[in-house]
Amino acid sequence: MHYLDHNASSPLRPEARAAMERALSTVGNPSSVHRAGRAARHVIEDAREQIAALAGVKARNVIFTSGGTESNALALRGAVEGSLESGERITRLFVSAIEHESVLKTVSALVERIPGLRLEIIPAAATGVADLSATTLREGKGRALIAMMAANNETGVVQPVESVEGLLFVDAVQRPDAYDNASYVSLSAHKIGGPQGVGALIVRDDAPFSAQLLGGGQERGLRAGTENVAGIAGFGAAAAAWTIMSTNLRDRFEAGLPASAVIFGRNSLRVPHTSNFALPDVSAETSVMALDLDGVMVSSGSACSSGKVKPSHVLKAMGTSDEIARCALRVSFGWNSTEADVDAALASIGRLVVRREAA
Ligand code: PLP
Repeated sequence: MHYLDHNASSPLRPEARAAMERALSTVGNPSSVHRAGRAARHVIEDAREQIAALAGVKARNVIFTSGGTESNALALRGAVEGSLESGERITRLFVSAIEHESVLKTVSALVERIPGLRLEIIPAAATGVADLSATTLREGKGRALIAMMAANNETGVVQPVESVEGLLFVDAVQRPDAYDNASYVSLSAHKIGGPQGVGALIVRDDAPFSAQLLGGGQERGLRAGTENVAGIAGFGAAAAAWTIMSTNLRDRFEAGLPASAVIFGRNSLRVPHTSNFALPDVSAETSVMALDLDGVMVSSGSACSSGKVKPSHVLKAMGTSDEIARCALRVSFGWNSTEADVDAALASIGRLVVRREAA
């Protein structure tokens, strides 16, 4: 089996599994004051330090959540609603066209619900990079919140988040790192070899913020609910083990693709673990199934939209035709990917193209 869909979910790292197994034998509620509770609390606080180290922030700025989707919603809703209370209201949202659906749908819902809140979409160039120069950010009046992902989950193209000035939210799910100019940063465990269903939102001390889940006062009152102790332990261990991979596997893969393949974002700076390309005239559904029969697991567009024939909003924003976008495949590598995986994928793609040409 050759699993090349790490951007959808990366297999659990052994370090994360070991940390989770240890944590599963702690019995207490981390909010309890007795020794079992304190032991569980200890597990969470150690993991918080590990996430803080990865994100280059203080541990107190890390809020554990149920994953990237929740972190994105919490950042956006928390910022906008928190600003209503702060007296300096956010009235303008600038959101890149290639954000994850969890960001795009949340901002649409906010704009519908909050009077006076306006949304401007930051367009993407054909290179896959969001074009900040095409916005009215500098001209308009009123406080602005800018939402820009660190790297796109479909193309892997790195976005110019470091050059954003103002209140910034970064979805760093596909490129965890320290973003010193960001007030809010989303992370997800299962994209880096941690378990599914756990993530974090980094919120700076001076950033407007309003809790969305109220209750037992967990996470400094910013996100109530008994913490997922084992999940958090696994996330911490995965974060501690995480390093940026080399481009070797991706380069080997792209060098071996048929000449007819269209590689998206090819000339842009990209995270090394992603290759997004189209085999013209071969629909993504056909390719995913053909590769699967050969034991090679890849995705068509993003995992969240797979199964739908709808072309990817990311490729569309880059000006790709529907015809080509419908043929887009994403191959993504991770901590346990090998050259054998790459070669198996290339062999399967080669056979598919030959069959197509013969048909
Ligand atoms: N943001 C990006 C860029 C993603 O790639 C994903 C997952 O595909 C998410 C957010 C959502 O994360 P989760 O699956 O942890 O909810």
